[in-house]
Amino acid sequence: MVGWICRREQTKKAGGTSRELGHRGEKLMGRELSWYWAQQAERAIKALHERGMEASFQADPDVACEYILSRIGPGEIVGFGGSVTLVELGVLEALRRMDVILLDRAKKNITPAEKHELEERASKADVFLSGINALTADGRLVFLDCYGNRVASILHGPARVLLVAGANKIEPTLERALWRVKEVAAPMNAHRLNRGTPCAVTGVCQDCRHEARVCNYTVIIEHAPRPGRFEVVLVGASLGL
Ligand code: SF4
Repeated sequence: MVGWICRREQTKKAGGTSRELGHRGEKLMGRELSWYWAQQAERAIKALHERGMEASFQADPDVACEYILSRIGPGEIVGFGGSVTLVELGVLEALRRMDVILLDRAKKNITPAEKHELEERASKADVFLSGINALTADGRLVFLDCYGNRVASILHGPARVLLVAGANKIEPTLERALWRVKEVAAPMNAHRLNRGTPCAVTGVCQDCRHEARVCNYTVIIEHAPRPGRFEVVLVGASLGL
């Protein structure tokens, strides 16, 4: 986490005393946050193992990206669901350059028909990648989906599912995780996608009946029906929405 902040800061650093003081403060905060997230992740990983899921923690986002890519073999068919986390980590950009068959539903100038076809094929890919909207300290995964293609592939699709989340997505209880997906993830996603829903305007969920509602499906994974199908990678950084 600290290294990541430092690299980001180095790229935009323009000098100046207050800026440097702020940078030192950020490093100190980053160190404590790194420690805190590592503790939360350790607890969640133990719980995820008990629920039949593979799980690991990578403190550094760059190392996390390399690790995720190392889990995908040459020539494999790779599908993915919409995920700010995967974009932020650089996973999607790296996959576009790798020797894999990427079902790239996020490529530029894609038509709705092409996108739909790629999403259909993703359910039969070798491996499926997705972010996680929230997870609980006791190992439950919570997803919010608009059309359902992402959760469909996660629940009953490829034999291997790689799920990635920043440690900021770990919540102490299921109640808090459900709160997070409705009151944090959904409004930011609706705003990002210009959906025009009430939450996209006010930042607060109003349980709308809007035609462009982003939160049509809420899914909780409590246990892996097939051991090892789900692999969760937790990252020591604030990632995604
Ligand atoms: S129900 Fe409507 S207002 Fe609430 S989060 Fe979903 S899209 Fe936004």
